[in-house]
Amino acid sequence: MKAVVLKNVEKSFNGTMACADISLSINRGEFFTFLGPSGCGKTTILRLIAGFIRPDKGKIFLKDKDITHLAPEKRKVGMVFQNYALFPFMSVSENIAYGLKIQKRPEKEIQEKLETYIAMVGMDGFEDRNIAELSGGEQQRVALARSLAIEPAVLLLDEPLSNLDARLRDRMRLEIKSLQKRLGITTIFVTHDQTEALTMSDRIAVFNKGRCIQTGTPEDIYANPVNSFVAKFIGDTNLFAVDMKNGNPCVCNDLLVRLNRPVLAQSKFISIRPQDIILSKKSDKKSNTFKGRVEDIQLNGTWIEYCIKVKGIDFKATALNTTANKLNITIFDDIYVSFETNSLKILDN
Ligand code: ATP
Repeated sequence: MKAVVLKNVEKSFNGTMACADISLSINRGEFFTFLGPSGCGKTTILRLIAGFIRPDKGKIFLKDKDITHLAPEKRKVGMVFQNYALFPFMSVSENIAYGLKIQKRPEKEIQEKLETYIAMVGMDGFEDRNIAELSGGEQQRVALARSLAIEPAVLLLDEPLSNLDARLRDRMRLEIKSLQKRLGITTIFVTHDQTEALTMSDRIAVFNKGRCIQTGTPEDIYANPVNSFVAKFIGDTNLFAVDMKNGNPCVCNDLLVRLNRPVLAQSKFISIRPQDIILSKKSDKKSNTFKGRVEDIQLNGTWIEYCIKVKGIDFKATALNTTANKLNITIFDDIYVSFETNSLKILDN
């Protein structure tokens, strides 16, 4: 059974289309991420699912039930907001119990759930603290517990890690993922951070300008981007506009890239991941080997990133920084850049 289904959903604000013709199916127990740049409509879709706003067109289903016009409190949906939206004048316990009290659950049940969810997010001992006395990470946990305590059918997380520092963000990423798997709760996570999306999700929907461009597993989207936007947005890539010459795509200038397969005339870009670029001090005279010059070298611990200029074109190449991998490349060296044909992606737009 599908947990959430959107069918041709549209929403405009003052004539500006925030999301256009969105159709998506989210499976039960899935960790599903909406990924895209700022303003592409991710939060709007989350708010439509939560019921805070209504679509202009289309339908929204929760477990096969049409909830398009159902009030938010009747939807069995929990939401964690970017700024957590905790009540500052209430204690940790009061915040977590808030939804249960609104639902008029018996006091005994509220106490039991409080204990369960405070323990689940590791906030034992903080029950009577004021929200203002908590760190960002602690507030994050309270917000999560408050949403989980009502035992929603779907948990909506709107950029919940964006206010945390890098180290805490890494930790919360793991905590949220493991909690989600333990509870088996269907979760929709909104982010503009590709690393978050790739590391946490079962599946990702990539959005741009109010449209859903591609859905798939992180592996699939990374390996098979449908267009140049997805190729650039998910992971790093070398993206070259293509000019056709005798069935071979020709990157600007005289850099003729040879392929071992036919290419359609409408092909517009080729994409090569930096880790698929092979650097060598000697030419092995294979096709797709080009002489260039090292313009920049950056070490980021695990990886070394090289910027190579070939006939005016910048190539980015990365190599694992291991002892066995040392190429002894220094800045301004002459260098040969090559790649295997099967590592190229040919894109139509
Ligand atoms: P971010 O990552 O910056 O939060 P987003 O992808 O979540 O962005 P949305 O918040 O869904 O994007 O906004 C999509 C578009 O709709 C934007 O152009 C935004 O300005 C517009 N928009 C969203 N909510 C409203 C509103 N209540 N009134 C008017 N315009 C809105």
